[in-house]
Amino acid sequence: MYIKELAIKNYRNYDELSLKFDNQINVIIGENAQGKTNLMESIYVLAFTKSHRTSKDKELIKWDSDYGKIKGSVFKRNRSFPLELIFSQKGKKAKFNHIEQKRLSDYIGSLNVVMFAPEHLNLVKGSPQERRKFIDMEIGQIKPIYIYHLGQYQKILKQRNALLKDLQRQKQTDRTMLKVLTDQLIEHGSIVLERRLEFLKKLREWALPIHKGISRGLEQLTISYDASIDVSEDINLERIIETYTSHHDSIEDREIERGTTLAGPHRDDLFFFVNDRNVQTYGSQGQQRTTALSLKLAEIELIKHEVGEYPILLLDDVLSELDDQRQSHLLNTIQGKVQTFVTTTSISGIHHETLNQAEIFNIHNGQ
Ligand code: ATP
Ligand code: MG
Repeated sequence: MYIKELAIKNYRNYDELSLKFDNQINVIIGENAQGKTNLMESIYVLAFTKSHRTSKDKELIKWDSDYGKIKGSVFKRNRSFPLELIFSQKGKKAKFNHIEQKRLSDYIGSLNVVMFAPEHLNLVKGSPQERRKFIDMEIGQIKPIYIYHLGQYQKILKQRNALLKDLQRQKQTDRTMLKVLTDQLIEHGSIVLERRLEFLKKLREWALPIHKGISRGLEQLTISYDASIDVSEDINLERIIETYTSHHDSIEDREIERGTTLAGPHRDDLFFFVNDRNVQTYGSQGQQRTTALSLKLAEIELIKHEVGEYPILLLDDVLSELDDQRQSHLLNTIQGKVQTFVTTTSISGIHHETLNQAEIFNIHNGQ
């Protein structure tokens, strides 16, 4: 799949911009603060309806404007279709093929995007929250119903935490409502966990050999899921529900004492090991980067496998952060297969023949 055209209006520092893209490599060149990341972000937002940089949609609208718009023409499965997002003070509208989609989970997944930016190089070293976000976004674009369950889970989690606080401060003593919320939390949380375990198995299939390739066969990556309950990876949904239920029974008093939910997918994490050593703790910066790069390349292959077509790849400021060996590995892998957008302040930092045929866009002050 690829994006043929993009039109943005009142988006970040752009008044109005309309571009036609190459279906292979597009390079966006500009000095700092000219709008490179904003342009990449707009493509990401077109896919996910939200930004990778902020959870506040309002920030996407150009200062002093009351609405902002992103429109794209996407080619996928041998046909073209338009996608459109409109942000205003009242909220956002998402249109697929000119028709507004009331549920975002019906819209997300129509355009598949993988973003790789310097902050992703920190995926291994960063907070558990970043790693959870990584898996959640990936599962979401392959199986949009996941977004629904995750959203429900987060909503119930908030309510349950508020109630646990009330019980902690003895503003309330009756636990009937807590039981109701616990059941609802488990209902959605179990599906979230089941899907994550399933995703992880698939991710591994791609990530491990890719990692071996980049490290020239010298390093062996392993990835494990660290759940807040005791589960084996082949556990089925029914067993997950049972395990959460008995676990919550046993920790309920402690949860009230602490005033917060102590078990569930919101507390889980991923662990990465290289040659049996935890990369988070012991890995060199290079090893952490190789792991992050392997995960991103695995994501691309996984989407191709699940969706049937390669996603679009956004490389924001990341190529110049990789050494020549990793740069070539990345560009060789995607060459000729994946529509790619690359940003850079200067083309001289990127050495690869693919860039000879690239479409070049110079960005200056939102133009
Ligand atoms: P760098 O090379 O430093 O990463 P960049 O070209 O990626 O730069 P962007 O992150 O795209 O820069 O930001 C460009 C400009 O957009 C910044 O000066 C920022 O202040 C401005 N900007 C951000 N949000 C808005 C907004 N809502 N309205 C108008 N301008 C904005
Ligand atoms: Mg930038």
